[in-house]
Amino acid sequence: MAVFPVSDEIYGIDLFEEGRPGRSSAYLIRSREPILVETGSANSQEALWSGLAELGISPDDVRHVVITHVHLDHAGGAGQTMAKARHAVLHCHPRAARHLIDPARLEAGARAVYGPQLEAMFGPLEPVPADRVVTHEDESVLEVSDRVLRFYDTPGHAKHHTCVVDETSRGIFSGDTIGIRYVPQYTGWNFVYGFPTTTPSDFDPDVMLATLDRLEALNLRAVYHTHYGVTEPASTAFAFSRRGVRRIQELLRMLSGDSTLDDVVARLKGKMADDLAELGHPGQDISPLSLDILLNSQGILVYLQKRAAGKL
Ligand SMILES: [Zn+2]
Repeated sequence: MAVFPVSDEIYGIDLFEEGRPGRSSAYLIRSREPILVETGSANSQEALWSGLAELGISPDDVRHVVITHVHLDHAGGAGQTMAKARHAVLHCHPRAARHLIDPARLEAGARAVYGPQLEAMFGPLEPVPADRVVTHEDESVLEVSDRVLRFYDTPGHAKHHTCVVDETSRGIFSGDTIGIRYVPQYTGWNFVYGFPTTTPSDFDPDVMLATLDRLEALNLRAVYHTHYGVTEPASTAFAFSRRGVRRIQELLRMLSGDSTLDDVVARLKGKMADDLAELGHPGQDISPLSLDILLNSQGILVYLQKRAAGKL
């Protein structure tokens, strides 16, 4: 199912990130000025535009493009999307704008994480024209004829991360801030599993928990995850994110700035296995999460090194 209804004229679009279903979703708010939330990477362009076409939206119809943060699975295709959607403006966090306008530093950072796999995984990065980028400070509002979106500064996963509340449906486009919702289409498991994402280089568990507290106090109805689909009630996503951060805090107490990546990977696998066992899935094969375990471990290691160097 490439396109799925969410609520109040909101639709999800499977971006087939990594060539796999159930990994990443973009969202369309079908209003008088159609709003796209997340572009996915350049490699997701075909899935994105065919999903939009299925919803009756052509490139010229798109008026607003919102990205939660600049990580490539969320906004790697922002340049290509904006080139095609020529009447659209792009909305983002103030710290995200310069990376979209000039992706050179972003590309170097991503290459440090993904190495020579970068192009194969995400495709090329293209710049977004500066005069089409609008930045949103904390609690800034975008009013689009029949729709009100409120932007929140939501550090913890990334310092350039914004989460966006849709006032009509009382749902939040959470990007990577309120955990990843792993669905059976992606994992091959017969249940949904939630865990935070701690990819490099801004992950901070205390900041993430503070952001979760702040967002949960908004009393939202649902969470619209980029990875993947919708959690309703929203409290379920806040609960699994907090549970996961607590697991990671246990892990951080066992490790130091001198730990190796292999140490972190081994410990994180153990913690996730414990977590799954406690949820009633002992002995679950966690290999479907291998890529995320590796990336999360890299982010945890960066945090440990910053902590050891007094740079938090
Ligand atoms: Zn992501």
